[in-house]
Amino acid sequence: MIEMRKKQFKAESKKLLDMMINSIYTHKEIFLRELISNASDATDKLYFKSLTDGSIDASKDTLKIRIELDKEARTIKISDRGIGMTADELESNLGTIAKSDSLNFKNENKDDENLENVEVIGQFGVGFYSSFMVADRVEVLSKALGSDEANCWLSEGVEGYTVSPAEKEENGTVVTLHIKENTENEDYDQFLDQYRIEELVKKYSDYIRYPIVMEMSSQVPDENNEGEYITEVSDEVLNSQVPIWRKTKKEIKKGEYEEFYKQKFYDYSDPMLVIHSKTEGQATFDALMFIPENAPSDFYSKDFEKGLQLYSNGVLIMDKCADLLPDYFAFVRGLVDSADLTLNISREVLQHDHQLKIIAKAIDKKIKSELSKLLKKDREKYEKFFKTFGVQLKWGVYADYGMNKDGLRDLLLFKSSNGGYATLKEYVERMADSQNDIYYACGDSEEKIALLPQVESVKEKGYEVLYFTDDVDEFAIQMLMEYEGKHFANIQKDEVDLSSDAEKEALQKKNEDARELLDKMKEILGGEVSSVKFTNKLGKHAAAISAEGYVSLEMAKVLSQMPNGGNGIKAQLVLEINSEHDVVKKLEKADETALEKYTKILYNQARLIAGLTIDNPTEFADMICDMM
Ligand code: ADP
Repeated sequence: MIEMRKKQFKAESKKLLDMMINSIYTHKEIFLRELISNASDATDKLYFKSLTDGSIDASKDTLKIRIELDKEARTIKISDRGIGMTADELESNLGTIAKSDSLNFKNENKDDENLENVEVIGQFGVGFYSSFMVADRVEVLSKALGSDEANCWLSEGVEGYTVSPAEKEENGTVVTLHIKENTENEDYDQFLDQYRIEELVKKYSDYIRYPIVMEMSSQVPDENNEGEYITEVSDEVLNSQVPIWRKTKKEIKKGEYEEFYKQKFYDYSDPMLVIHSKTEGQATFDALMFIPENAPSDFYSKDFEKGLQLYSNGVLIMDKCADLLPDYFAFVRGLVDSADLTLNISREVLQHDHQLKIIAKAIDKKIKSELSKLLKKDREKYEKFFKTFGVQLKWGVYADYGMNKDGLRDLLLFKSSNGGYATLKEYVERMADSQNDIYYACGDSEEKIALLPQVESVKEKGYEVLYFTDDVDEFAIQMLMEYEGKHFANIQKDEVDLSSDAEKEALQKKNEDARELLDKMKEILGGEVSSVKFTNKLGKHAAAISAEGYVSLEMAKVLSQMPNGGNGIKAQLVLEINSEHDVVKKLEKADETALEKYTKILYNQARLIAGLTIDNPTEFADMICDMM
């Protein structure tokens, strides 16, 4: 006799299972779609194998999912003749949670004693365990393809489960749910009703590419006894089997895209944008893509894998085909189905596949054009999108040395001194005739940039300034080089000078006259600055830091945060003193000690304003107190 020992669920599985069992979730019905999806996956796997192994039976009879209801016994059975599971697989697949999404969910809800967030259950891949929302006993009878033995996994809840040898003729899996008794608040009987099940299959699993068959009984007139009815039973296929992406837009019901997206990509929000396209020509393919409302929780982790699902004629051949998406669109979820691709193609071969490259190019273009449409049609929504994913696009401009700039640059948004966001196009259209360059300034936040002395004075002159708040901004702009013939000018760099020729001349003279003083100040600051000079672009402020040469202040900041410290690349700093400010008189009159003090104070305060750190804050504070 075989000894059977009850095994414990792994801790995290137990927790999720517990949530399922005690779930107050209203959409308990999703258990069915989860089980059908599993059956469909198992059938896919078998079909896929059969392509390279002629001995595997992948006939029509096999590629089918069956549902059986038994009202008396209160059971619902979902069976497939797919790949099946060995005893070990039953153990590892059903004894632990495989899906990282489920795990994430568990982590987020660790402290959620009352399971308040239970509404989100089932809106994503909670999988097999959802059975326990409707059943108090679950049996999984399975025989793996190519194996002689079958096994039965059995569980009645958190106490644990058993796996024991069993009898089963064909490979595949039969999941039997023993449906709970109705309670005062819960109607479980519905899941034993054929019409309700039919409805649920249509709602959630219509696109499953294998027939989902159920024996349906109906009342038909009895030919022998007039006025009497007899019950007739016959197999019926419940799903249309047309994958949603194969349907035309007209055929797709309201909410169908959203439902499909949520269950397929384990999101609990509707997608922000749906892109459904049929392409014919150089490559023929259907694409169904979604831009999520929010970035996936692992989006910024190194574990995140971009990619679209790849189907060949409705059969999944790769789950995340990275080559289909450029990095700057890594957030796009979805799939591509093309008859042009051969089924049993390996990952390595696929990478060099000509057809795939054409598809990838077309997809890139499509996403760009849809985003561009959105930008024109629904600015508010686009801005929301840009807040979430805009940085990706900027990196896209930067990473390919601007190669992709053509499609991407018009999708970029920058905060503007005019308020709100501006595209480069909008900026250029608003430019004054007298303005040659696109002005920008960098900083940690809009608010801080707006307060920069240089920004204030440019704004006072009536020019618009773009505010660069992302690290990548200035790097991306460097790659763009220009926009519609207009160059970009960092107004914290000294080349930007908006004064008139006469003003310029006067300033130059002032600088020359004060050469000695300014050089002395430079000396006081040691190697910190490459020069000290008078300027007339600071409005009412006394001093500011700017940079000269290729590297701007912001770029230097970003570079210094890189792992290699930016290879020691530094900006060449210039201390600019407002030639109109009263402080100049003080400087002119100061003796040696006072000049040293004033210079250091001006320099340090200018650094602070520019968002740079100062080397010796204590000394700085002491100097100010001294003066007070
Ligand atoms: P998933 O989201 O991965 O489907 P589930 O909890 O639903 O998570 O299932 C866990 C694993 O159990 C599946 O990934 C699969 O390997 C296996 N499995 C579930 N149902 C079946 C089935 N009908 N046939 C074969 N394997 C199955």
